[in-house]
Amino acid sequence: MIYDLIIIGAGSAGLPAGMYASRYTLKNLIIGEIPGGALGTSHCVENYPGTLSAPGKEIMDNFAKHAEVSGSEFLQDRVESVEKLANENFAVKTSSRKEFEAKKIILATGNEYKKLGIKGEDTYYGKGVSYCATCDGNFYKNLDVAVIGGGNTAITEALYLAEITKTVHILIRKDKARAEDIWIKKAEKVDNIVFHYQTEAEEVLGAVMGVNGLKLNTGEILAVDGIFVAIGSSPFTSIVDNLSPKKDNEGCLIVDERQETSVK
Ligand SMILES: Cc1cc2nc3c(=O)[nH]c(=O)nc-3n(C[C@H](O)[C@H](O)[C@H](O)COP(=O)(O)OP(=O)(O)OC[C@H]3O[C@@H](n4cnc5c(N)ncnc54)[C@H](O)[C@@H]3O)c2cc1C
Repeated sequence: MIYDLIIIGAGSAGLPAGMYASRYTLKNLIIGEIPGGALGTSHCVENYPGTLSAPGKEIMDNFAKHAEVSGSEFLQDRVESVEKLANENFAVKTSSRKEFEAKKIILATGNEYKKLGIKGEDTYYGKGVSYCATCDGNFYKNLDVAVIGGGNTAITEALYLAEITKTVHILIRKDKARAEDIWIKKAEKVDNIVFHYQTEAEEVLGAVMGVNGLKLNTGEILAVDGIFVAIGSSPFTSIVDNLSPKKDNEGCLIVDERQETSVK
């Protein structure tokens, strides 16, 4: 059987893509390794319009139900490769040795936040270590936090957090931030933002309740309740590398105004 569409990824992009494909009567299959994707791991989502506050898993279970009720098929599996066939269709191979054919592919594989790789980072993930200020910032009202990174994301996250928290410490590895000057100048004017240059985090410190500090390369212990890591992210696009799609410097696929890649 040939699918009209195979969607790779079962997160907040892939599941609605399946729901819409079904509404257009396209025979579609969603293949996702982690049902619900990244949002399914969020303990509390407070920016989903119409839902004041709900666990990420609850929201994503409903996304999955919606796709299924609409007519999408679902397979929990890891896609290992996508190949182009002589008839211009695609062959999708999974790690459980299943193979499917589809006329079109939607890649909704998300991305992975880069980690610092320091002691305590994994232990306190979700208990004070976060990779998304807009997602988790609200949990640190009037508390002290650190943002790690010197790019645009780090500085804009610090500006956002400064409106909620007591103090935001920005830790920058080099003697200058990489972010655009406009963001740096804005942040420098904010009273509760403190820049720490040539400063690296060496260990996340904490107790049962969660994070309570950061050990720095200067030997100092910075007392903070939350740590926001903002050192970039990498997209999961290697499964289509053999098709040689155009990518940008970050490894993200370049798409046109129809969200199509350079691979027909
Ligand atoms: C802890 C946490 C809390 C968050 N909280 C919020 C919040 O409160 N509000 C908010 O707006 N955003 C939040 N986010 C961000 C939000 O989760 C992401 O923006 C969103 O998940 C992106 O959706 P996506 O579908 O593009 O990718 P993802 O959710 O990452 O889904 C990718 C999907 O692709 C699958 N996949 C990848 N590679 C393969 C492969 N080779 N084969 C098969 N499947 C594959 C994955 O298993 C997964 O199912 C949070 C993120 C995290 C990590």
